Amino acid sequence: MVLEEPIIEVTLLKNFINGEWVESKGEVKDVINPATQKTMAKVPMSTRGEVNMAIKAAKEAYPDWRRTTPLARVRCLFRLKELMEENFEELSRIQTMEHGKTIDESRGETRRGIEMVEVATGIPSLMMGYNLEDIAAGIDEYVIYQPMGVFCHIAPFNFPFMVPLWFFPFALATGNTFVVKPSPRDPISQVKLAELVDEAGFPPGVYNIVHGGADVASILVEHPDIKGVTFVGSTEIGKDVYKKCGETGRRAIVQTSAKNFMVVMPDANIEATIPALMTSFFGNTGQRCLSGANLVIVGKDNAFYNKVLNAFVDTASRIKVGYGLDESIQMGPMQSMDGVQRATGYIEKGLEEGAKLILDGRKLKIIGDYPDTCFLNPTVFDGVTPEMTIAKEEIFGPIASVMRAENLDKAIEMCNANPFGNGNAIFTSSGKSAREFQYRITSGNVGINIGIVAPMAFFPFGGMKDSFYGVLHGQGRDAIRFFTESKVVIQRWF
Ligand code: NAD
Repeated sequence: MVLEEPIIEVTLLKNFINGEWVESKGEVKDVINPATQKTMAKVPMSTRGEVNMAIKAAKEAYPDWRRTTPLARVRCLFRLKELMEENFEELSRIQTMEHGKTIDESRGETRRGIEMVEVATGIPSLMMGYNLEDIAAGIDEYVIYQPMGVFCHIAPFNFPFMVPLWFFPFALATGNTFVVKPSPRDPISQVKLAELVDEAGFPPGVYNIVHGGADVASILVEHPDIKGVTFVGSTEIGKDVYKKCGETGRRAIVQTSAKNFMVVMPDANIEATIPALMTSFFGNTGQRCLSGANLVIVGKDNAFYNKVLNAFVDTASRIKVGYGLDESIQMGPMQSMDGVQRATGYIEKGLEEGAKLILDGRKLKIIGDYPDTCFLNPTVFDGVTPEMTIAKEEIFGPIASVMRAENLDKAIEMCNANPFGNGNAIFTSSGKSAREFQYRITSGNVGINIGIVAPMAFFPFGGMKDSFYGVLHGQGRDAIRFFTESKVVIQRWF
């Protein structure tokens, strides 16, 4: 059954600045539903003046917000959480419409977003400092954590609702003010969220949203009143953002691209492993920074290799592809035509470099009558070697490269030789192999019999190597430290 679409009319999205919904004077672009190809909204590319207004509003709101007690601050977050629960289904359906993911994936994303707000409501205890009496006779010393001012977030397209929530609830709870720039490709669920932030009773200017692309992001990154930048997106752009923040001495969390390896050991429980691999490689249509990309089957035993490969390909070929609002669908379209072109370019590259295409997702099988513009079915290459382009670079689509490693040592070497290090996983029933993998692997997140290693809101999230630039990660305690600076007080009384 195809669920009812919550958006029918095409609207011009507005910026939310200083508690007001403001129409932008910038040029507009269409936001297109990738499954139906219908225009859902017009998104403005905000002008420099508008971005400056948002930063100014956040700067002016900061002194009072900082002095608002942590308890009063989190009351706004509690209200926001309630509103998100009340609007849960609408928020989820909008994500499916603007991004393409299945409704269950969107519901999962909404739930994860709400969890960020829930964890941030713990700030009155989480932000506490510490002290020690008598560091010398009659002298005490203590640490306090203080907010810093205005922070911003530059968001990717692949989790349009959740990713900004990795940051702004923690920033606001700790007493900072914030400007969000959603991805121009799918900004609508973030606008809906901004409406809820507005309703939750945050004072004007504490939270702002400005639309746009690279130009707007650059204004935010370079603005002297921004104390720190949180960026999630591709590595080349992220590196540049990180460099600019370094040059001006500002804080940055920069979470970037990935190429994740799923290592299957000969002692893995295959029945349980295959469904986990399906979600990992083809969930979110392969557009996750934690998606499986390279499947490494370990061992010299051909029978085992073929058993895993056949089960993987057979299950992948039966994934139901269509419009994500159809509840029977298991995989939606990719988010954009550009994404499909990029992915099919990699299919051609794989063929050129001698990999064997054993499941060709370009032969479309779509359930329902939808334009084929953004669709690509699950695709599997066998016989892939680590030096091939498809094994090295991020494809960001439903394409799996199957590789072989003689033993665990070789598999770990293969993973660690890759420039990215976001979310690698091992499937095994051996504690020893799992421990070895966890100990030696160079990725920020490690799965043991889990294909998508997405940390919960109360744990930090970030990668290693070319998947992350910065020191502190997003979410959890790291985010609280990122959004505060520590001050040491030493006191004695005469
Ligand atoms: P992208 O780099 O194209 O865009 C990300 C954001 O940067 C957008 O808001 C975009 O408007 C903005 N931007 C574009 N040009 C810019 C510039 N010159 N300076 C500053 N900002 C600029 O990424 P995307 O295609 O939206 O997202 C997909 C990428 O994000 C993938 O590489 C994926 O792996 C990565 N990602 C990483 C994580 C993680 O946690 N590591 C999570 C999600 C996505």
